[in-house]
Amino acid sequence: MTVSREVRLVSRPVGEPAAENFELVATEVPEPREGEIVVRNTWMSVDPYMRGRMDDAPSYLPPFALGAALDGSAIGEVVASRTEAVPVGSTVSHFLGWREYAVLDAAAATVVDTALAPAEAYLGALGTTGLTAYAALTRTAPVREGDVVFVSAAAGAVGSVAGQLARRLGASRVIGSAGGPAKTRRLLDGFGFDAAVDYRRGRLAEQLAEAAPEGIDVYLDAVGGDHLQAAVGAIRPGGRIALVGAISGYNATAPAPGPDNLFRAAAKEATLRGMLVTSHFDLFPEWIGKAAGWLADGSLHTEQTVAEGIAQAPDALLGVLRGANTGKMLVRLGDR
Ligand code: NAP
Repeated sequence: MTVSREVRLVSRPVGEPAAENFELVATEVPEPREGEIVVRNTWMSVDPYMRGRMDDAPSYLPPFALGAALDGSAIGEVVASRTEAVPVGSTVSHFLGWREYAVLDAAAATVVDTALAPAEAYLGALGTTGLTAYAALTRTAPVREGDVVFVSAAAGAVGSVAGQLARRLGASRVIGSAGGPAKTRRLLDGFGFDAAVDYRRGRLAEQLAEAAPEGIDVYLDAVGGDHLQAAVGAIRPGGRIALVGAISGYNATAPAPGPDNLFRAAAKEATLRGMLVTSHFDLFPEWIGKAAGWLADGSLHTEQTVAEGIAQAPDALLGVLRGANTGKMLVRLGDR
């Protein structure tokens, strides 16, 4: 008998989630049925959007159910299989994270090529994280030669890829914002940004104006609120803003103040466009084809913040919401 520990949601948070919203439970792993595989998860992702799923509110994904294991992207090794399509020993990505073992229909898993990149890269730069940056900057708010590009949450998973990608797409200047001096330094030293803004110092609009005296052409918005306001204030004629996330409001208990300068976007004929990475999965082969090469030759720099073991997964999620991560926040699910 194999025992798997899983993290369940036992109560819904008001404001910032806390450890008591979660429970770690041991369960017996069932035998796979015809067409199913058993995966020993080795890595799982914690992502800001999971905060929204902790609320009982309609969104683009259903809320997490109370009393049930959470889910989300994970990578693991197939340890039992009832289909020839995905043999034992394969490394797969799938959506049953938050547990040590997953039993699922093989059709819901994707075999990943670990010769191309380490398995966990498929949760970061080669997964939906990297694809979000790629789709945002090529489709939603395309970067053109010579553009000035501003990226928020720039030391995080999506942002750190987006800054480097903007440069490859021809940006003349790439500016990132992050919280605190260590992260803003990392933007300049590690991730190749030309300028960094520390939003915790306040005066965001003034800092952005200093970093981009002529304004910006493209903004990848991961934060909303004050960041979106500052970006609209700096947008140049024909500018493009990709609305990717609004993390400054994810724990809010009252509606977060929005930008009060949106007419400026009209006057500058700017485009503000929302995006969901799930609508851009057709770009996956193209993106992996490019990014795997850049990872291998070292020209795409990625970082990870790693929590160890399933018991740390709730803390890792709370951490990503608070900015405890540089690069991609991951949980390693190893041997016990
Ligand atoms: P991440 O950037 O690795 O982690 C989140 C970061 O947000 C934290 O590290 C923190 O960095 C920053 N943050 C937290 N509170 C903040 C605040 N009040 N103001 C400014 N920054 C704050 O996470 P990610 O997975 O790459 O996601 C980034 C954003 O993209 C999120 O908004 C997420 O929801 C969104 N997203 C959207 C899609 C889509 O399909 N639309 C897909 C993936 C991600 P600091 O320490 O710098 O504050």
